[in-house]
Amino acid sequence: MTDFGRTVLPYGSFVRPGETRARVGVGVGAAVLDLTAAAGDIVPEHAALFAGGTLDALLGAGPDVWHDVRAALLAWAEEADASTLEPAADVDLVLPFTVADYVDFYASEHHATNVGRIFRPDGDALTPNWKHLPIGYHGRAGTVVPSGTPVRRPQGQARRPDGTIGFGPSERLDIEAEIGFIVGTPSRLGDPVPVEDFDRHVFGICVVNDWSARDIQAWEYVPLGPFLGKSFATSVSPWVVPLAALDGARVDPPARDPEPLPYLRDAEPWALDLELIVSINGTAVSRAPFAGMYWTGAQMLAHLTVNGASLRTGDLFASGTVSGPEPDQRGSLLEMSWNGTQPLELADGTSRAFLLDGDHVTIAATARLADGSRLALGEVHGEVTA
Ligand code: MN
Repeated sequence: MTDFGRTVLPYGSFVRPGETRARVGVGVGAAVLDLTAAAGDIVPEHAALFAGGTLDALLGAGPDVWHDVRAALLAWAEEADASTLEPAADVDLVLPFTVADYVDFYASEHHATNVGRIFRPDGDALTPNWKHLPIGYHGRAGTVVPSGTPVRRPQGQARRPDGTIGFGPSERLDIEAEIGFIVGTPSRLGDPVPVEDFDRHVFGICVVNDWSARDIQAWEYVPLGPFLGKSFATSVSPWVVPLAALDGARVDPPARDPEPLPYLRDAEPWALDLELIVSINGTAVSRAPFAGMYWTGAQMLAHLTVNGASLRTGDLFASGTVSGPEPDQRGSLLEMSWNGTQPLELADGTSRAFLLDGDHVTIAATARLADGSRLALGEVHGEVTA
């Protein structure tokens, strides 16, 4: 279990053994505060928001309420007696909010360049549009699952090495280490959300594993993009870290060339100095830096709504695979094994090009503050089943 300290104060939803009713929890150290029970004492004016047991009502309440609740929790946590909390390991963490729409971006220049080199070795690594807009696709909200949900290897069509079309279990099952942004405040149909309104609409972040079947994806994605190679499961961490907890991790984004259109220009810096640590069966195989992502969450949100598409409470948009410039900073096995040609060595002496049945994948995130200290932001894990 992650030790969140007493300033991150992430929100989640949990069920106690023997109970069926979900409760809203707050991560305090390595323990859980039952906010559904304690809200009457800690934030009496907003206690009704936590009665439903999920974050849905809090998400929809908007930034002024988010601020009030967090301020009350921070004051409470300073004095809190840890003996009144329950160990997080003793409860079952469930999906913390109702996922409305799900969008996945492709915002790491290093990831996009690596994928371009692997799949289009004779062409330009980046497509001509890549530096003009954050590329994304609409995914499947109904298959977003909480951390710990087993992921069954998907079946589908794929082109075999001999050129024939086969059907069967994916032979190239992969992960994508990503950060997800969770929308709280909705918007009106027809009204774009500008970059400067990012933190009035986005409540917080989670860690995402966008499981991907590369063989299914490679055969289906031209011309309309990812479909069944992605839609079978997307895992999210059970704890949602409020954006307000990440103030100290905000940094300047990388230089953009060419300068983006006015609606995508940074109003204030929303790059975040986070690190995603990917482990397979206990071996850390990558440490991917988030700070260098070409497009920020604020730009993704502005682009997602620039055509007038409206936001709903519970919308989730993910960053795309986070990869840095170094070989040990890549957020997918596709890149780590260079499409299977350079398998990774694990601590148990086995090697991996793509995932095998029984493999256990964990992606853990931390934030680095200006003083060099780190905040734990939680993790998402899952095991592959046949
Ligand atoms: Mn993805």
